[in-house]
Amino acid sequence: MTSDGWTPPDGEAMTFLLEEFIEVSDDETGAKADAVSCLQDQAARALLPGPRSGAQSLQQLALTGMSPAEFQQLRRDVRDWIRSLMSSSVAHWRTLNGPLRLCLGAPPWPADQKQDLLVEGPALDVFWFYLLHLLSRVGIGRIGICWAARSQKDRDQQALLLQEGVTEYCQRLFLRRGGVKRYCSEFCRGREATARSRKKRR
Ligand SMILES: [Zn+2]
Repeated sequence: MTSDGWTPPDGEAMTFLLEEFIEVSDDETGAKADAVSCLQDQAARALLPGPRSGAQSLQQLALTGMSPAEFQQLRRDVRDWIRSLMSSSVAHWRTLNGPLRLCLGAPPWPADQKQDLLVEGPALDVFWFYLLHLLSRVGIGRIGICWAARSQKDRDQQALLLQEGVTEYCQRLFLRRGGVKRYCSEFCRGREATARSRKKRR
């Protein structure tokens, strides 16, 4: 921790990123302005260095200062980019426009502590910089895709199964813990377990 901010814990940041930040609809009409600005504040606290409550750091202010429309678009861009990382082997470069100023926290620097990386610049650049830095620390391999079949109670899913014999999958992204978790939620895990035991009985 330094005097002018600190980096949120990686696990918490990744959970927030996958379970809330990228869970965004393409349809803007359902988004309530209050909920968007609340999430904007949460995102600043969870993904960028700075105080967890109260006054915000420059990095956090850059994100909360975005217009709601710009913020929602950023969420979609991040979602699409992370999904593209999961599904292809093409290099996924990001272009930052800059200028970016970079600094290693503030002294004093205890021997056994990592320093906060402080970046200042255009809001989008700052966000993408910290996002890539987070993912490089945690590792893309920690992100899983849920392959639980979607609920058959879902009418669209039922229609698909009847028409084409196609199963649609949940496909939500989640953070693997210990490398064993296969489904995004207890809900999906339970549904798969039920489906398996039903198949066995047949
Ligand atoms: Zn799932």
